[in-house]
Amino acid sequence: SRMFLTADCLFCKIIKGDIPSLKLIETEFSYSFLDINPLSKGHALIIPKYHGEKLTEIPDEYLNDTLPIAKKIAVAQGVKEYNILQNNGALAHQVVGHVHFHVIPKPSAEEGLG
Ligand code: 5GP
Ligand code: ZN
Repeated sequence: SRMFLTADCLFCKIIKGDIPSLKLIETEFSYSFLDINPLSKGHALIIPKYHGEKLTEIPDEYLNDTLPIAKKIAVAQGVKEYNILQNNGALAHQVVGHVHFHVIPKPSAEEGLG
């Protein structure tokens, strides 16, 4: 598959399988997995198989394969309400310097926090 990865990035290592993750969906252009410190049950991350820190660095062919996967994950989680987040830069609360989309379920009171 077509990948542009770097040696010293946590999420590039996850794509390569050098660091274990709970994989959800993998395609030619993207990889998704469960967040290690979930804000709610099912909190997932979707990353392009292209190393870039910010959205503006990612070629469209990679980016175009991320939001459709967010849709699939949102459906699979079975929750109707959720946030899609993508942070760019430290001031915007980005911690890991490889573009990632968060899918954060917001379960109802009956469903509980998970
Ligand atoms: P940011 O603040 O950069 O948008 O979010 C980074 C996210 O990556 C956080 O929600 C954090 O819990 C998650 N994360 C950090 N390190 C790891 C890891 O090694 N494995 C997984 N699965 N998630 C991670
Ligand atoms: Zn990377």
